[in-house]
Amino acid sequence: YATSHDADLVVIGSGPGGYVAAIKAAQLGMKTISVEKDPTLGGTCLNVGCIPSKALLHNSHLYHMAKHDFKHRGIEVGNVSFNFDAMMKYKTNSVKALTGGIAMLFQKNKVKLVRGLGTIVAPNKVEVKGEKGVETINTKNILIATGSEVTPFPGVTFDEKQIITSTGALSLPSVPKKMLVIGAGVIGLELGSVYQRLGADVTAIEFLDTIGGVGIDGEVSKTLQKILVKEGMKFKLGTKVMGVKKEGSVVKVEVEAAKGGKKETLDCDVVLISIGRRPFTAGLGLDKVGIALDDRGRVPVNNKFQTTIPGIYAIGDCIHGPMLAHKAEDEGIVCVEGIKGMPVHFNYDAIPSVIYTSPEVGWVGKSEEDLKKEGRAYKVGKFPFLANSRAKTNGEPEGFVKVLADKATDVILGTHIIGPGGGELINEAVLAQEYGAAAEDVARVCHAHPTCAEALREANLAAYFGKPINF
Ligand code: FAD
Ligand code: NAD
Repeated sequence: YATSHDADLVVIGSGPGGYVAAIKAAQLGMKTISVEKDPTLGGTCLNVGCIPSKALLHNSHLYHMAKHDFKHRGIEVGNVSFNFDAMMKYKTNSVKALTGGIAMLFQKNKVKLVRGLGTIVAPNKVEVKGEKGVETINTKNILIATGSEVTPFPGVTFDEKQIITSTGALSLPSVPKKMLVIGAGVIGLELGSVYQRLGADVTAIEFLDTIGGVGIDGEVSKTLQKILVKEGMKFKLGTKVMGVKKEGSVVKVEVEAAKGGKKETLDCDVVLISIGRRPFTAGLGLDKVGIALDDRGRVPVNNKFQTTIPGIYAIGDCIHGPMLAHKAEDEGIVCVEGIKGMPVHFNYDAIPSVIYTSPEVGWVGKSEEDLKKEGRAYKVGKFPFLANSRAKTNGEPEGFVKVLADKATDVILGTHIIGPGGGELINEAVLAQEYGAAAEDVARVCHAHPTCAEALREANLAAYFGKPINF
């Protein structure tokens, strides 16, 4: 019935999952329509997530270096100051360039964009309510890529000025004097770092006894905490937040030890609440087509990203798995390949995680805590950046690489990096793990000298042979 359809595929949501899937589908010859409710393309990641946060992280890092680090390197720049408005403008321009870039990619690949809120009204029909009224699209397939939203804090209303989510933190009018961060996960550490570097007094309150969120290796988490504390960030771990109240220009945050006990009220100008995100499917009409969400509000899918309704698929933050842009993108690609009858394979054990602090943290696969829990016999190969010639010469000797390999087979089970360029370096470890490499394989690969990547090689050498060369 090809001619009776307006589209082969309607992708609802143009975040990294949806826009990448739409482009791939069009490249595979499908007549593809992207539906987006927001004025700009790119979803959370480009508009209020990965991209604006990295613009602020990078520039606040450069400022921090110029202010506190240049002098001992022999660089004299006089009095260093920053213009916050200009920094924010730089961030806005980065976002504009990239969201505009998607519109151009859509044109180039012949993806049609329909603006408005998409609702699935029948298994093969999507209604889009936009400025021009309601448009109906008949389609062979539908891909749900509607992403996620901030998890609210019970009893707290965000004003995005003093009680803020990550979105507010990316657009503050000025640097707060005193900032509290609730949740020392990825967002708390990254955006907390931005304001701490720009001079705010930042304290992160975390329910758990560790920072960095889910999946981080315990030793890496402790090392990161030590480094951030040295930089001036404060932490209150094992602490529950009981309430957040505004009193005039002050925000009062009531906390208590997680295990019960002492209560305390902390004051600040701005409180950033970053306790996680939850799937977003409001207005999609899933109940009308008979798709029930799971207990965490996610769209249930099988390993081909098919929902319970034939022809309807879902990917990205609105399904299971880590809420990461690259995970959403890769799911989008294999999902549409599957619609074309190609094989669908996704290795959830080889998705990298990066925390863009200074130094950066990157990991893939199992942590030591995971392996202990599983009762798996493993070997550890560790190499400090202090013993890596490039890191030492660059004056960035903090951190290490830790490789965890199977005790019997030497197959790499996890790699954990905290140190210079950790977010780039982790990709080599992901490649190794995706190809099922043993630690010896990586240790025998020629690495350029002097590079920080040699620390990864040496950690693999330590894992397979027991001893590195340079430490
Ligand atoms: P989203 O990006 O959320 O996109 C969903 C899109 O669907 C949105 O544009 C929305 O408007 C649209 N939509 C929803 N419902 C409808 C509807 N019914 N009709 C039409 N349109 C609809 N991840 C990383 O990997 N690296 C990072 O460095 C990183 N940094 C982050 C920093 C912050 C501050 C935040 C908040 C997140 C960060 N993330 C990062 C997470 C990342 O942004 C998400 O994992 C990613 O955006 C998920 O992609 P997605 O396509 O599934 O959904
Ligand atoms: P998160 O899950 O990383 O961290 C939330 C933290 O808040 C956890 O450590 C949790 O223990 C703590 N917490 C929860 N409730 C609390 C409470 N009541 N009091 C104190 N602490 C509490 O979530 P996030 O930092 O909000 O980030 C949301 C999502 O965005 C994550 O899934 C993450 O993957 C994604 N993201 C990724 C990046 C990146 O890849 N670099 C950057 C930002 C965001």
